[in-house]
Amino acid sequence: MDVLLHEMMHQSIDQHADERDVDTGGTSSHNCAAWVAEVNRLSPLLGLKRKTEVIRQRRVNGRVTWAAREEGSLTMRELATWPYCLRPDGYYRARAKGPAKAKQKRSGK
Ligand SMILES: [Zn+2]
Repeated sequence: MDVLLHEMMHQSIDQHADERDVDTGGTSSHNCAAWVAEVNRLSPLLGLKRKTEVIRQRRVNGRVTWAAREEGSLTMRELATWPYCLRPDGYYRARAKGPAKAKQKRSGK
């Protein structure tokens, strides 16, 4: 489901970019204002707490690097793999088993 959501976000942004006058410029389809806005809008609805921003080149300790201004913001890689990169280990395995089977396994039945 997360992969489908991710791909549908691309579709929605591309399809509505002209009519909404959204900023799709950036270094990639993941590191742009439109993508970041959708990630920040949808993350709380998925129970994901991390916020993000468009990542730009910055000088950090005298070195130029790609980094967000806000600490804890998603990295470039995380933007490209949102939301599945933020799911805990075993999240999809537990979902694949379904609530009944997962419950049986926990109780040992
Ligand atoms: Zn993508």
